[in-house]
Amino acid sequence: MGLLVVGSLALDSVETPFDKVDDALGGSATYISLAASYFSGPIQLVGVVGSDYPQEYIDLLSKHNVDLEGLQIIEGGKTFRWGGKYHYDLNIRDTLFTDLNVFENFDPVIPDKYKKSKYLCLGNIAPTLQQRVLDQMDNTQFVVCDTMNFWIEGMKDELVELLKSVNVLIINDSEARLLSNEPNLIKAAKLIREMGPEFLIIKKGEHGAMLFAEDTIFSAPAYPMEVIYDPTGAGDSFAGGFIGYLYKTRDLSTENMKRAVIYGSAMASFCVEKFSTKALEDLSYLRIQDRFREFINLSRFDETK
Ligand code: AMP
Repeated sequence: MGLLVVGSLALDSVETPFDKVDDALGGSATYISLAASYFSGPIQLVGVVGSDYPQEYIDLLSKHNVDLEGLQIIEGGKTFRWGGKYHYDLNIRDTLFTDLNVFENFDPVIPDKYKKSKYLCLGNIAPTLQQRVLDQMDNTQFVVCDTMNFWIEGMKDELVELLKSVNVLIINDSEARLLSNEPNLIKAAKLIREMGPEFLIIKKGEHGAMLFAEDTIFSAPAYPMEVIYDPTGAGDSFAGGFIGYLYKTRDLSTENMKRAVIYGSAMASFCVEKFSTKALEDLSYLRIQDRFREFINLSRFDETK
């Protein structure tokens, strides 16, 4: 078995109406691994950083039972950096810069002991790199893939090719519209599922998430939050909670997929409570389960009159 996570490791500079941080721990693989680590460990991580990547971040990942054999540290290289600014409406984010740095020449090499991993989470990085990872795997059973507008606009053909081999695609509503060229989300979901993924999850920020499968549409609420400090990484934390739960339970039925969507939503709701990865650093499985139950109560009602 084994759960392999591939994606970006980043130093993020983030500005919200409440605060501002520079060079904070970020990256898709970072959020996915931390979120998944509460469900099952060790998490196998493949990615790249430069020699400027702080040791304390490596220690933090190790502490969360993340196996770093697949992490390349490029001597003299600069870590991937991303900058974003959120508006008063936190659903609106401007990307200020995307400095790929060591990702520009990254060749993901999967350590032999990871190649037989049955669960693979392709976090947000270039689709060409995601494909390269997939090509090295030996009989992977279940592939979850995340991406973003940057790649849909810049590498659409490569992404569409990759989707043929993906079981679950996780994207947000604007990305779904962009990928399918279709404004209606139900029609967009149909078109995207025809590209390959058996399951599609469309995240809608503070309006929850939808799971699309053959003959099933499942709608999950978002957790009503009074305080949102930093939405960065919410989508990746969702993916980490989603695949972490499926890996823990080893059940890929549509019903279990629905529970996984709620666990993903729970991890996203924790993520936004603090800046950077802070809120994912000292959670417990008990707190996650409590929030899972709160999600159930949010949509439970008495159907009798
Ligand atoms: P999310 O808020 O879930 O979209 O994820 C934000 C994280 O994605 C940040 O920590 C960034 O470092 C990372 N990120 C942003 N742009 C890219 C990109 N083009 N490729 C890979 N990772 C990225």
